[in-house]
Amino acid sequence: MNESLIKELLDKNIRVVAVTKKHTKEEVDQLYALGLSTFGENRVQEFLTKYDPKYHWHIIGHLQTNKVKYVVGKVDMIESVDSLKLAKEINKQATKLGIVQDILVELKVTKTDENKTGYPIEGAMDFLKELEQFDHICVKGLMCIATHTDDESVNAKEFDEMKALYDQAKEKYPQMDTLSMGMSHDWRLALAHGSNQVRIGTALFQS
Ligand SMILES: *Cc1c(COP(=O)(O)O)cnc(C)c1O
Repeated sequence: MNESLIKELLDKNIRVVAVTKKHTKEEVDQLYALGLSTFGENRVQEFLTKYDPKYHWHIIGHLQTNKVKYVVGKVDMIESVDSLKLAKEINKQATKLGIVQDILVELKVTKTDENKTGYPIEGAMDFLKELEQFDHICVKGLMCIATHTDDESVNAKEFDEMKALYDQAKEKYPQMDTLSMGMSHDWRLALAHGSNQVRIGTALFQS
């Protein structure tokens, strides 16, 4: 475990989703003992093997509609909502349970084709408008995965674009409080450009 990184994140009071995909429940417990309490998983099957109601959980990866029923009500946040069909199914399952499920809208900010997930950023405001019809989901904010590149200026532009959109959306939807961006290699840059929640995996486990 990278205890100095964890200490830095905690000292700075940064909202961290510790991404534990491909790591064991024992490692989740170790991270919790070091002070982290929100964990991110991108596969439902793997999430269910580690799920522990003591902790906070976020789904951060592409979610198939037929798996939605296994996560609604168990996770604090589904960060990767990028289609109306998925939102509709989350709303349906949350209605069944009589709860409101918090979600983030994942936007595709990269201009490359490397990452196919995320709703097209140009249509974000229209998509948010469509989501208003669902009473059992609460859109808490936006999420993105930036382009994987060593060129910081590319990522800086993407983060700025997201921040501007987030500020615009927040005026219309005051319940929004989360702009989830930044991973192991770009979290400092993301925070400098308006992120208020980072999702860090790899770097946490490097000692
Ligand atoms: C794996 C993953 C992360 C963490 O990535 P690292 O580079 O390991 O920090 C963050 N967000 C999403 C959506 C992921 O799938």
